[in-house]
Amino acid sequence: MRIDIITVVPELLASPLNESILKRAQESGHAEIYVHNLRDYTDDKRRTVDDYPFGGEAGMVMKIEPVYRCIEKLKAERDYDEIIFTSPDGITYNQHEANRLSLMKNIIILCGHYKGIDYRIREHLITREISIGDYVLTGGELAACVIADSVVRIIPGAIGDEASALTDCFQDNLLAPPVYTRPAEFNGWKVPEVLLSGNFAQIEKWQDEQAYSRTKALRPDLIEE
Ligand code: SAH
Repeated sequence: MRIDIITVVPELLASPLNESILKRAQESGHAEIYVHNLRDYTDDKRRTVDDYPFGGEAGMVMKIEPVYRCIEKLKAERDYDEIIFTSPDGITYNQHEANRLSLMKNIIILCGHYKGIDYRIREHLITREISIGDYVLTGGELAACVIADSVVRIIPGAIGDEASALTDCFQDNLLAPPVYTRPAEFNGWKVPEVLLSGNFAQIEKWQDEQAYSRTKALRPDLIEE
């Protein structure tokens, strides 16, 4: 899978995209992630990407031309399944959307900044608008990292232990059961006996019960879904 991220602050993306699973997924060829600096698509000397809003409101607006040029260049090189804009008024991101995106071949994520982007970009170029929650960030870069991370980790083969991604929270509308590791007793705090029993049928049954009771207690809305 290929992800192209368009931003005015490429520095913000460098570290999150180049550590841990995202790094390994790129090294093993499961994912390719490219960051494009919008300022490379301007033609004035100062590389301006924003301008004053029509109507005289406060704040600056991202200009249409650099975004258009960048997206058109990428589209000329390959087909894109989705051109995403990160936006607080988009659909709320969740595991279902991450799963959907992970099946795609090429996606673009456009990060907004300042007061927002010229609305014509959203009307004519964007195919999907995604919010990572009901709060306002300074820019779309952190949202793009959230999307890239959650999508890449479920590409088959990207995580060494594939089963691990399948048993994560939300994959079956259930929260994950608790996990423990050695020592079996610390400070008098014990690991549930069943996990030490070696009886895999019973362990699985315990995990299912835990997943269900935790979901019922903490996120009953998931079970109603
Ligand atoms: N004035 C805008 C917010 C601009 S914030 C409004 O009220 O809707 C600047 C940029 O940060 C946005 O264009 C968007 O790309 C990004 N952003 C802010 N909050 C976000 C969120 N919850 N999810 C995804 N992107 C967000």
